[in-house]
Amino acid sequence: MNISHIEHIGIAVSNLNDAIKFYEDKLGLKCYSIEEVKDQKVKIAFFMIGQTKIELLETTEPDGAIGKFIEKKGEGIHHIAFAVKEIKDVLSELENNGVQLIDKTTRKGAEGLDIAFLNPKSAHGVLIEVCEDKK
Ligand code: ZN
Repeated sequence: MNISHIEHIGIAVSNLNDAIKFYEDKLGLKCYSIEEVKDQKVKIAFFMIGQTKIELLETTEPDGAIGKFIEKKGEGIHHIAFAVKEIKDVLSELENNGVQLIDKTTRKGAEGLDIAFLNPKSAHGVLIEVCEDKK
């Protein structure tokens, strides 16, 4: 498997507008898009740093994954996404190597990219996402 770069870092926030204000006013970044991914019950604000995005994630339903995460752990880094070519091959390679997957097949993530999550139990406690590298 060949990871080209960190595609994005997903950060769980309780209030998207407050968090956007911090990233824009205090860190001087610019939010270039906001998108709702109904499937994952999140609203996402995107920032670009080099070729890596920051995704601020706010839950749209209390029972969504981000809602539950914040309830348990509070705001903070939720997952890290690695860009890979041939994501389907990567998933079978990981599975063959005994890595537990949350998604055995890809699903559509933000910005229409194919993504899949690995089980944090297999990854030293980190929720890792693999994300198709379109470039
Ligand atoms: Zn992500």
